[in-house]
Amino acid sequence: MRFSGLRILKEGLTGNRGWQPHWRDPAPKPEYDIVIIGGGGHGLATAYYLAKEHGLTNVAVLEKGYIGGGNVGRNTTIVRANYNLPGNSEFYSHSLKLWEGLEQDLNYNAMMSQRGVLNLFHSDGQRDYAARRGNSMAIQGDDAVLLDRDGVRRLVPYLDFDNIRFPVYGGLYHPRGGTARHDAVAWGFARGADQRGVDIIQNCEVTGIDIEAGQVRGVQTSRGAIRAKKVGIVVAGRSSQVAAMAGMRLPIESHILQAFVTEGLNPVIDHVVTFGMGHFYISQSDKGGLVFGGDLDFYASYAARGNLPMAEHVMEAAMTLMPMIGKARVLRSWGGIMDMSPDGSPVIDRTDIAGLYLNCGWCYGGFKAVPGSGNCFAHLLAQDRPHKAAARLRLDRFRTGAGIMDEEGTGAQHNLH
Ligand SMILES: Cc1cc2nc3c(=O)[nH]c(=O)nc-3n(C[C@H](O)[C@H](O)[C@H](O)COP(=O)(O)OP(=O)(O)OC[C@H]3O[C@@H](n4cnc5c(N)ncnc54)[C@H](O)[C@@H]3O)c2cc1C
Repeated sequence: MRFSGLRILKEGLTGNRGWQPHWRDPAPKPEYDIVIIGGGGHGLATAYYLAKEHGLTNVAVLEKGYIGGGNVGRNTTIVRANYNLPGNSEFYSHSLKLWEGLEQDLNYNAMMSQRGVLNLFHSDGQRDYAARRGNSMAIQGDDAVLLDRDGVRRLVPYLDFDNIRFPVYGGLYHPRGGTARHDAVAWGFARGADQRGVDIIQNCEVTGIDIEAGQVRGVQTSRGAIRAKKVGIVVAGRSSQVAAMAGMRLPIESHILQAFVTEGLNPVIDHVVTFGMGHFYISQSDKGGLVFGGDLDFYASYAARGNLPMAEHVMEAAMTLMPMIGKARVLRSWGGIMDMSPDGSPVIDRTDIAGLYLNCGWCYGGFKAVPGSGNCFAHLLAQDRPHKAAARLRLDRFRTGAGIMDEEGTGAQHNLH
């Protein structure tokens, strides 16, 4: 079933009786060539690209809950390629290019909106850093515009520019960045993979990983044993727990990140805006809700809900930057479990166990990575060599110290990223 304007018209005129489920609900087979553990954005995108680009369709995605129930359906939907340093720069640049053709590729409306991402700065030192970051982005081939105060005012006049503590000096603007509807991205990849023959199996928790003589043989699940020649672990906040099933101790800590949404309002915030002096960023959804968030709750946890001190901290930062937000009423808040790596950067790599592969460490920024991660992980699983855009995302950097990709210049410590 293909989506098109004509199809919508026809269904509208005939009582919408022709729509079908977007993917099948197959029972697990006893054996697959490749089993992907985790039906989040990254797992589903991996399965899609395995089928589409490598012709590998004897593949299952095993999801313990339902598609879209994890972080892929909980994030604040920001997509961008404005990283500063090699390793992340080329990877996120690759991912953004995939985003740009994604809806046509998937034949699915993911509501991709390149409305621009504006990172504000509030001091001379921050301006210098923004200029360096913008130059790195330009060298990578991505777009960056350094705006002075008046340039920012033209884009976002509603900020408190003369705040006594944090006056706005300017901003680094990334016009190709923006937002996409998070759960639609998961559904689009699920549908695309399913149409190519991949089995997407929900309510199927992996409870063990079978390994014989250093070679992976399959997985144990809540729906029985499944044999597999290759297994990919793509479980975001549960990475440490699932890797432990294979006897691995990962350099990953799980922390909670919260988000908030207000009641629907008339269009007021046209871009994604981030505060440079506090933990606050915001955009407006197509339904009108102001969607915003801040920093991690600063302790390791698997509870997918947030704490009140961080909620207060985020609201204070919001009021500092844009006092008008005080009139909006917050409808909901929620939390997701982040797989925090020590350097704030991800891993797409083989493990020491033959046939077992790992995709993790996305921290609070893995939504924008979904197409790039799936594309590169599929390449690794199919060809046993890294994709060039993900060549530096190696696991052993945490053992050797070589190749650490310090995302924020804060050092190699989980709770600083
Ligand atoms: C509040 C919040 C805001 C965010 N904002 C942004 C943003 O604006 N931009 C951005 O780029 N990123 C953002 N992120 C981060 C981004 O959402 C994540 O990095 C990314 O979604 C993680 O990858 P995933 O989609 O594959 O994860 P998930 O959707 O969590 O997928 C992992 C899946 O593995 C499944 N699983 C776990 N254990 C097992 C098991 N034993 N067996 C089978 N299945 C299992 C889980 O049920 C889950 O569905 C945000 C995250 C949160 C929580």
